[in-house]
Amino acid sequence: MTATDPTISLVSFYINGNWERPVGRTGGTVINPATGALLAEVPYADESDIDKAVRAAHEAFLKWREVPVVERVQVLYRYKALLDKHTADLANVLTRENGKTADDSKLEVRRAIQMVEVACGMPSLMMGDSLNDVAAGLDCKTIRQPIGVCAGITPFNFPAMVPMWMWPFAIACGNTFVLKPSEKVPLTPTFAIQLLHQAGLPPGVMNLVHGAKPAVDALLHHPLVKAVSFVGSTPVAKYIYSTAAAEGKRVQALGGAKNHLIVMDDADMPKTVEAIISSAFGAAGERCLAGSVLVPVGDAAGPLLDLLVERTKALTVGNGAEAGVEMGPLVTSDHCKKVTGYVEKGVAEGAVPLVDGRQHTPAGKKGHFLGPTIFDHVTKDMTIAREEIFGPVLSVMRVKTLDDAIALVNQSPYGNATAIFTSSGKSAREYSSRCEVGMVGVNVGVAAPMAFFPFAGWKNSFFGDLHAHGKDAVAFYTEQKVIMSRWF
Ligand code: NAD
Repeated sequence: MTATDPTISLVSFYINGNWERPVGRTGGTVINPATGALLAEVPYADESDIDKAVRAAHEAFLKWREVPVVERVQVLYRYKALLDKHTADLANVLTRENGKTADDSKLEVRRAIQMVEVACGMPSLMMGDSLNDVAAGLDCKTIRQPIGVCAGITPFNFPAMVPMWMWPFAIACGNTFVLKPSEKVPLTPTFAIQLLHQAGLPPGVMNLVHGAKPAVDALLHHPLVKAVSFVGSTPVAKYIYSTAAAEGKRVQALGGAKNHLIVMDDADMPKTVEAIISSAFGAAGERCLAGSVLVPVGDAAGPLLDLLVERTKALTVGNGAEAGVEMGPLVTSDHCKKVTGYVEKGVAEGAVPLVDGRQHTPAGKKGHFLGPTIFDHVTKDMTIAREEIFGPVLSVMRVKTLDDAIALVNQSPYGNATAIFTSSGKSAREYSSRCEVGMVGVNVGVAAPMAFFPFAGWKNSFFGDLHAHGKDAVAFYTEQKVIMSRWF
């Protein structure tokens, strides 16, 4: 393959405050999914690279944990200002390597910045409790202390935001960090860490390596790594959770999803349709919160599907960097083939395509495009009803009652996110209470908790105890200690 993009570069590691370009490593390439152009070559870290990064992080930890928290967060304040200044630049890199639209990339960067903003509050968030005279002359208090080197392993679909679910909280708590982002989209996290370097973080506190399974395995087995945060697909999340836990590490592993959108016949249909379009086809369906199964209840199907099909057919698919484009390409050609395979399977298994994405791709484009697809009359046994597709494919499963909808949702092995659309408080309350899902939207199609709330699913969508960001992140990245004192 030859370089076709003038900005092609070899992506570097960031270890102990230095940018390093290792030689002789295996590696991969980063392709602009909208054009097919080669953007960069990525070297994959081997065990020695990981050992070097972890040891640098450990050495830095011995000093960083002694830095007062009020000083630690000063770096994050400076970093936030740099992120604000470079939002558009970071969003451009994101769109170029991931494919999501320019507006969507800016929103993602904004969400990432919010993580930093919340982590800036660590002096308050890390406070413990205290009570004097728990017995005569005996005082008791809890303190939170950092745990050491933390590792983060992240997916391709949110390369700006998901790493920031992790490391701003971890380092503000006094830990140091080694990030291994998705090898498919290494440029966005690299740019984000370049800005962090500019903000003046001491060497070794944050380290960045690239790579695939061998790099991850080296992190999971390294004795100096004390905690592992993972976000990605369910099979890998299960593997990360069991392997790291067996090594005695603290783990949070967020996995895949199959999210249901319930629509009652009393819903505001035009607004509901806009929310469904955004949920199912935003970011080309490559979101863990994407609506994948649409469940019209009772008489909702008729008016809902008429509007939805009309709106879906009018969606503009193209290069996300271009103005007016509403849906970009899929991240890689392999992923595009996989999602197209699900569309073929849906047809073969008897689902009725109301919109067939294969006939709705932009003409003359070289990228990995697949238009939005809606299947009607999908049944429980069909592959498209059961498996995570992670693309712009929406399966319609009609049910008669809200009880039927709840039963359908609760039999899924996943429990990441869901939504109900209704004007009835009673239906909304009942659904929110009885569904076995971690994140619920009421007339909200993408129920993404803000940085100050916890983020994670249930069942096969999450392995661990403490969720991502919010107060859970503070608990995850600290060890709690109880001190009882008596003075004679
Ligand atoms: P993925 O599981 O393929 O990869 C995630 C990370 O794991 C990458 O850094 C990758 O290098 C590494 N990895 C891949 N295979 C591995 C293996 N066998 N052993 C060790 N490490 C391995 O996921 P992806 O395709 O990058 O991202 C999409 C998936 O992430 C979807 O399933 C989506 O639902 C999920 N996701 C979940 C959430 C959530 O909050 N639950 C958020 C975003 C994405």
